[in-house]
Amino acid sequence: MKALFNFLFQDVKSKTETKDFAVLLRFMCLILAIYYLITAVTVACNRHYYVGLILVLAIAICCGAFACTYEDYTKLSMILINIVLIVFPAMLSFAVGYDLDFQFMTFFTILIVFYNQSENMTPKIIYTILICIASLIISWLSTSFGVSGLDSSFSVIFTRSINIIATVGLLSAIAYCYCTKFNQAEQKLRAFNKELEIMANYDPLTKLSNRRHMNEHLAGLVYEHNRTGLPFTMAIGDIDFFKKVNDTYGHDTGDYVLSTVAGIFSEYMKGKGHVARWGGEEFLFVFENMGIEKAFAALDKMRHQIEMTPMRFKDFDFNVTMTYGMEEFNDLFGIEVTLKHADDKLYAGKQGGRNRVVM
Ligand code: GH3
Ligand code: MG
Ligand code: MG
Repeated sequence: MKALFNFLFQDVKSKTETKDFAVLLRFMCLILAIYYLITAVTVACNRHYYVGLILVLAIAICCGAFACTYEDYTKLSMILINIVLIVFPAMLSFAVGYDLDFQFMTFFTILIVFYNQSENMTPKIIYTILICIASLIISWLSTSFGVSGLDSSFSVIFTRSINIIATVGLLSAIAYCYCTKFNQAEQKLRAFNKELEIMANYDPLTKLSNRRHMNEHLAGLVYEHNRTGLPFTMAIGDIDFFKKVNDTYGHDTGDYVLSTVAGIFSEYMKGKGHVARWGGEEFLFVFENMGIEKAFAALDKMRHQIEMTPMRFKDFDFNVTMTYGMEEFNDLFGIEVTLKHADDKLYAGKQGGRNRVVM
């Protein structure tokens, strides 16, 4: 059974086509071949010998259409299946009886044609109208000139049942392929949206939030602060003499330092708040539910951790320090002014000798 499924789901040879349409056609060929085999035996048993023989041709076309899907002739396969679904039901309606519901098979051609990937809708709509007209004509002609039905009531019930089962089978195959196609498209879209979201919100080098994402986060914090009055403290941190790191060890070593300190920040800030890459070698921290004193203690501990972290890249061994300016958020000033105060304190820290937190 698994081998049969693998065979049915085998990919198409063409690199520019997806396999879903070919898989749908294979399912249909299989169902139709079995359906015409049973119908051929049934009508032959009811003395419609020639009809039974003609149906062998339908089975042969189904096999041909099935083979075509493996050889990159999906279009030809589709045409063959459409012939099988139009010509033979029409013939059966005339020769065996319209009231046995053979004609419903024809409507599946509409679904196949619409499933086909071409974007031009006009031929598809024209095709649907033609199928509708042809079905009406077959209905009128076969009820006026068609032959009587089958010999026994059992044959009638049997043929109708087979027609219903085949109809349900074809419908399920098409519905299944439609669902798979939509699900795959949706999954791809979701993955792509996630990728876009990451690109829009995160810095690729440090994997930290970017300025845009942090601004969104800050807006949420201000809203919460206004609602609950919970404090939060912001701090700007800047790597000391970073230009010298680049100049002495190279730009790639500078990148290594940025991603190393970023890794320490995101680990350290877990449960305390949020951190973002604010600019080149500047980072913005928010300590949530913390006033300035508590935040100072937390930040100074991290400052010490950065100072003590050995940087090893290529053959270089060195340490970096950082200077920070911090300010508790005050709704009288708002985010912009609070940030400006933090920045001023960072500047004061640089002037005062670096490697310190100024509150
Ligand atoms: P200070 O202690 O006063 O902050 O001195 P500084 O050398 O760190 O300050 P300055 O602003 O002069 O230098 C910042 C440097 O950061 C300059 C710039 O080339 C470097 N930089 C900014 N973004 C990146 C980056 O993504 N990668 C690397 N390697 N360097 C960067
Ligand atoms: Mg700077
Ligand atoms: Mg700097």
